[in-house]
Amino acid sequence: MMEPVFTCSIDDGHPSDMKTAELLGKHGLRGTFFVPIRNCEGDEVLPDEKICELGRHFEIGSHTMDHRYLKKVDIWHAYHQINDGKSRLEDMLGVQVNGFCYPGGRYTARDVELVKACRFTYARTTMNLRFDAGNRPYEMPTTVQLYPHDRAVYVRNFAGSGNWLQRVEGLRLALQHGDWIRRLYAMFDYACRHGKTFHLWGHSKQFDELNAWTELDAFFAHVAARVPFQNRLTNEQLAARSLYASAAPIVKSA
Ligand SMILES: [Zn+2]
Repeated sequence: MMEPVFTCSIDDGHPSDMKTAELLGKHGLRGTFFVPIRNCEGDEVLPDEKICELGRHFEIGSHTMDHRYLKKVDIWHAYHQINDGKSRLEDMLGVQVNGFCYPGGRYTARDVELVKACRFTYARTTMNLRFDAGNRPYEMPTTVQLYPHDRAVYVRNFAGSGNWLQRVEGLRLALQHGDWIRRLYAMFDYACRHGKTFHLWGHSKQFDELNAWTELDAFFAHVAARVPFQNRLTNEQLAARSLYASAAPIVKSA
């Protein structure tokens, strides 16, 4: 029986990320914070020293320079958003930043090529309902967003994002539960029963607005009781461990 894998990614670098980080740390879980340098939508972004503090315990990934939706800008602008966001973080942290996340989950094939050209090693999308890391390193999917979406949102996302075969079980579980916390547990428990990957993502600003901290604390305790330490990964570790990261042939044991 395979053991489950847990990873978590938090977008936008909101000051409440410090609270999410505290809870992850409390339960010995790993994760990745995707941080823009500024947010053109006006949301507050953590100051440099707080990003560095996060970076001492978690992976920091880039989320463009200004949280700009790449689909809406020309190629030159997109390149600068991707490249400058990365170099600013690297100067700040003093380490290489390998992970990227597309703002708003909106991107085109052009943007995937730009992310590769800017020497990221993987990128996360907002595709949900998956229990694996996918097979394309620059389009890593997730399992579920920590947010009380209506059932209709899951149906719409499912229809619009493809990979239906790999997502149909996730959709079934998402539709089974109207209550978002029950849905969260049902999807995680499914990953545990089948030794699969569970990728939680969200925005700390929304955890704050939903006042979901108690629920998050309880859920992280539930995760920590079921996922062995070596299977609690950052997004980068998950990418490195996935089939797409390995050029070596898969050796089948006799
Ligand atoms: Zn974002």
